[in-house]
Amino acid sequence: MQDKFDFSELLPKSPVTPVRLELDDTFEFSCHKGIACFNKCCQSIDITLTPYDVLRLKNHLGLKSFEFLHQYTVPFEMDGHGMPGLKLKTRDETTACQFVTDEGCSVYGDRPTACRYYALGMMSMRAKDSPNDEDHYFVVREDHCLGHLEPRQQTIRTYRTEQGVDMYDEMNRDWRQIILKKRSCGPTIGKPSDRSFQLFFMCSYDLDSFREFLNSPSFGTVYDVSQNLMDALMADEVELMKFGFRFLKQALFGENTIPVRPDALEKRAERRRMLSEQQRLERHRETETGLPPDSHGK
Ligand code: SF4
Ligand code: SF4
Repeated sequence: MQDKFDFSELLPKSPVTPVRLELDDTFEFSCHKGIACFNKCCQSIDITLTPYDVLRLKNHLGLKSFEFLHQYTVPFEMDGHGMPGLKLKTRDETTACQFVTDEGCSVYGDRPTACRYYALGMMSMRAKDSPNDEDHYFVVREDHCLGHLEPRQQTIRTYRTEQGVDMYDEMNRDWRQIILKKRSCGPTIGKPSDRSFQLFFMCSYDLDSFREFLNSPSFGTVYDVSQNLMDALMADEVELMKFGFRFLKQALFGENTIPVRPDALEKRAERRRMLSEQQRLERHRETETGLPPDSHGK
C-alpha cells in the first residue's frame, strides 16, 4: 500500500494524459504572450493555494494575512474530513482570476504553485516503509490551450527550473507531508478535532495570527523557545512559516522538536481547572441573582 499526495488536486479539473513522466523525460509545450489563447487559462480558474503561495501573494499585494484571506480566497474542504484548504477567489460573478489583465498575470513573479506547474501535474508517492516521497509527472491537456501545439521540446526538469517550481515545492514540502500523514492516520484515530483544523488553518495560511500566538503568554508558558530563535522568527516570514509546520507536526503527531517547559502541562491543566471553576461559579451566581456574570453586582 502507498501513501500518495495527488498534486493534480492543486490544478484545475482537466483531462489528463495518463502517461507518467520522470524529470528527464521530454514534452512539447510553450506559452508566450503572442499565442492566440493568451490568458484563456486564467479566465476559468480552480486554483488551490499552498502556504507559500499565500505568503508570496499577500506580500506582493502589501496585505496582512487576514486581509488577503478575506479579499482573495475562499475556503474549502481538502478531503471528506474537514481539512481546511483555500482556493483563489474569482473576479465578481465570473470564473476569471482577479489577477489577470490584458497584459497577462499582474502577480506573475509571485504567481501560485498551480500556475507555475501548468501544463504539468505532479503526483507524490511514498512506498510503505520508505522515508522519502517519489515525484512523478504528467501532462495536463485542455482544449483551449494551444501551447501543446508549439514546437518546443523540453525536459520536465528544465520546465520546472524555468517556472520556479523547485523552490515552491521545497517551501511546501513539509506541509504536503503533514497533509499526507493527516489523511493516512485520520480514519484510524477517529474524526480529527475542530481544534486541530483551526491550528492547521492558522499555521498554514494565517501567518500574522501565528506570529501573535507565538508572542502570547499561552505559547510562552508551554514552549521553551530561545530568544534568538524568537527574534529570527519575528524577522523572517519564511522561517515563521517553516516553524509553523514544525509546530503542527508536534501538535498533531507528537513529533517533538520544540522543547516544552518541564512543568508546562501541569500549569496549563491547573489554569484550565481554575478557569472552569470560575465559569461554574459565575453560572451559579447568575442563576442565584439573575445578574449577568460580569456585572459584579453594580
Ligand atoms: S495568478 Fe496569474 S497566472 Fe495564475 S490564474 Fe491568476 S492571472 Fe493566471
Ligand atoms: S498556452 Fe495554455 S497556458 Fe499559455 S496562455 Fe494559452 S491557455 Fe494559457
